[in-house]
Amino acid sequence: MPSEHHKTVLITGSSRGIGRACALRLAQDGYDIVLHGKSMSPALEETQALVKEAGANVRVLTFDIRNRESVRKILTEDIETHGMYWGLVVNAGISHDVTFAGMEPEVWDEVIETNLQGFYNVVQPLVMPMVRARKGGRIVTVSSISGVMGNRGQVNYSAAKAALIGATKALALELASRRITVNAVAPGLIQTDMVDDFVTEHALPLIPMKRVGQPHEVAGAVAFLMSDEAGYITRSVIEIDGGLHG
Ligand code: NDP
Repeated sequence: MPSEHHKTVLITGSSRGIGRACALRLAQDGYDIVLHGKSMSPALEETQALVKEAGANVRVLTFDIRNRESVRKILTEDIETHGMYWGLVVNAGISHDVTFAGMEPEVWDEVIETNLQGFYNVVQPLVMPMVRARKGGRIVTVSSISGVMGNRGQVNYSAAKAALIGATKALALELASRRITVNAVAPGLIQTDMVDDFVTEHALPLIPMKRVGQPHEVAGAVAFLMSDEAGYITRSVIEIDGGLHG
């Protein structure tokens, strides 16, 4: 079944977890999908098969979002060949938790480079092509409630995710007159590879809804922000956290 409106959305980090759920939901909503992972993996292949099964046109890009030059080259070549994306979901990210007193420099750097520099590396080369396409567009960043509240053991991650919210809001101002909306989602504890049983056990008592969230519950908010109905929403942060922040 061909996609309905042929709007293409790139979702970084869509081999698994939240990114995969976003890709599947957006495929069901009729978008053409560009998947992305750090490298080709069985998970990424499986996501590709699932997106295809949902009836969407799909292609796959692989690059390390920390590698500025190769990201720019691969994205530029992809849009020259296939045309500019309508939407971006800036989702790829990592956490590496340790108390700040014991945080080695490389642990600080890898989390900042992936979550924050990754935003620059992916979004900056695409901004002018998106503006020049004159079709409007959508950018959704995946921050974290950790960037809103601060979280013990996550000084690096909270810093990167808070910075991502600042970047999102500032970029929203720069692109508003071009009908390109820029918003963030800030998930709480979502059941993916990123979260282990130890973290879940300790966090559960703090979550008013007393359960972890599921990736599709983040994907629902991302799909809404991507939709026509959300055309007047920009510079906002949607918290998806079972009431954790409030
Ligand atoms: P997963 O660990 O399940 O997936 C991470 C994804 O990011 C994978 O697709 C991975 O690709 C990709 N990725 C990681 N590092 C790189 C890199 N250097 N270059 C390219 N791709 C990379 O995580 P989640 O689905 O849980 O997280 C997705 C986003 O949601 C992240 O930004 C995370 O910070 C955020 N988030 C998650 C929460 C949670 O509780 N799970 C809560 C709040 C926010 P590959 O498979 O190839 O390694």
